[in-house]
Amino acid sequence: MDQRKAHRWQMMDRITQLKHHLTAIEHAIQTAEANAGREKQSVRLLAVSKTKPATDIEALYALGQKCFGENYVQEAAEKINKLNELDIEWHFIGHIQSNKTKQIAATFDWVHTVDRKKIANRLSEARDGKPLNILIQVNVDLAKTKSGIAPSELTDLAKFIWNLPNLKLRGLMSIPDPESDDQLKQSHHYLKILFDNLKRDHPTPEIFDTLSMGMTHDVELAVSEGSTMVRIGTALFGARAPKE
Ligand SMILES: *Cc1c(COP(=O)(O)O)cnc(C)c1O
Repeated sequence: MDQRKAHRWQMMDRITQLKHHLTAIEHAIQTAEANAGREKQSVRLLAVSKTKPATDIEALYALGQKCFGENYVQEAAEKINKLNELDIEWHFIGHIQSNKTKQIAATFDWVHTVDRKKIANRLSEARDGKPLNILIQVNVDLAKTKSGIAPSELTDLAKFIWNLPNLKLRGLMSIPDPESDDQLKQSHHYLKILFDNLKRDHPTPEIFDTLSMGMTHDVELAVSEGSTMVRIGTALFGARAPKE
């Protein structure tokens, strides 16, 4: 086989593989919705494409997947630039350094990881045009991880963001780091309670509609605890190389 042909076969293989993975994960979400008595399509799939090539994103897009999540600003900017003809909704889900807020505000449609007033303020100042969709990252199991705001400070930060002109607070997000399935369930349950409480106080509750929780290994649990957006990397794209 000549080299070009071999390459084409490889690409087709990859597309077939991605298609299989996408179908399987969509099925898992639908099953979880049904098992939890949730409405069909009440949970969105965010495809987490960090470390994966633009060709993978393009293939999934052609299969109907429209939202993608990225963690690293530089890597994301290159892919977003390459794929700018496609109508993709880009979500930033990585740690936010304050010197990157300008680029994040200019490049993404959603940011999941806001946990400080200073960052929120900088994002709002840098945003031009349509408001940036924001989720507050909550530290649901305080003991171990450092990212995310403490639940006791959540209301204060939410109120601050409500008053910023170029941000639209859409909901909450968490990246739990539990020691057991039980603890994970508790963390999800807790985030849902925080979400419902804030929604009750929200000046326009209908736009506070997104609970970003659940990853490859806990889709079923997250959906049963009220997630509206699961962030899936490994189950879609395969394992990632360890980050050096
Ligand atoms: C990498 C990442 C994911 C995807 O995790 P998988 O276990 O590969 O599905 C989800 N959310 C965040 C914030 C991530 O950094």
